[in-house]
Amino acid sequence: MTANGSTISLAELEAVRVYGLPMRTRFRGITRRQGVLLGGPAGWGEFCPFEDYDDDASVPWLAAALEACAGSWPEPVRDRVPVNCTVPAVDAERARAIVAASGCTTAKVKVAEPGQDPRADLERVEAVRDALGRSGAIRVDANAAWDVDTAVARIGELDRAAGGLEYVEQPSPSIEELAAVRRRVSVRIAADESIRRAEDPLRVAVAEAADVAVLKATPLGGVRRALRVAEACGLPCVVSSAVETSVGLAAQLALAGALPELPFACGLGTTSLLDGDVVEDSLIPRGGWLPVPLQPPHPDPALVAAATPSAEDQRRWLDRLVRVHTLLTR
Ligand SMILES: [Mg+2]
Repeated sequence: MTANGSTISLAELEAVRVYGLPMRTRFRGITRRQGVLLGGPAGWGEFCPFEDYDDDASVPWLAAALEACAGSWPEPVRDRVPVNCTVPAVDAERARAIVAASGCTTAKVKVAEPGQDPRADLERVEAVRDALGRSGAIRVDANAAWDVDTAVARIGELDRAAGGLEYVEQPSPSIEELAAVRRRVSVRIAADESIRRAEDPLRVAVAEAADVAVLKATPLGGVRRALRVAEACGLPCVVSSAVETSVGLAAQLALAGALPELPFACGLGTTSLLDGDVVEDSLIPRGGWLPVPLQPPHPDPALVAAATPSAEDQRRWLDRLVRVHTLLTR
């Protein structure tokens, strides 16, 4: 990937700040989130590829951050975005409480937790339906846990327990398996883990492996590139975050705000997973909605100072930034 007119180079940055925040809830096996805030001529971007991503996989994340710094997001077509609440693999009582407290009319329920009895999934989904009422939407996320036969059986049970599922996110690992599951169930299939690179949504669409594409602006190289990917694949899209601070989340909201169609609630109510933020006005959903920002929010210097990690972590992230920038501009 090369830089283009809608971006800037590292040399044009006015500020570079490494941050680290603990996670309130363990996510992707991580307990802290770190990254670099980049201050450009027109705004701020966030470079925060997950720790296990290599430099090549991190290139689109930097492109996305520099796009935000260049202030070149597309015009939004809506000013707010509906978001879902997320129900982890908790018991039914806790699930009911999470949904009731969220104010959201769409709930994403985690299922297929390793070591958990499948009956716990059914009880959780029933409790969520009870809390949401008939008009709410329930989707489940299996995080690629099932083989094809297990997926077909579980989806049928969960669909009945939920009184109708909106969709099932990534029931099985591969695109081929998703396609096989999709042929055998009536519930919509959404591809999440199968979409990590810009060419993936098209592969998913060509294989008829999903009805819905879950997109994140960061691994796709920014808002404009993700919009082009959405258009090329032709599937309805849901935007989900990579658990950024409000600076990086603003880019995901810019994508959700610019998609021509947005038929489903987005997975963007995630700042609460972090214990803290780097901006004063955190992007926290109100009544199940988030605003579409016209530009990224500015970090608050005191909050950034409070979130500064060890000198060793700062050095590691700055080295990573320079290496990935070399790849981006080669
Ligand atoms: Mg998912």
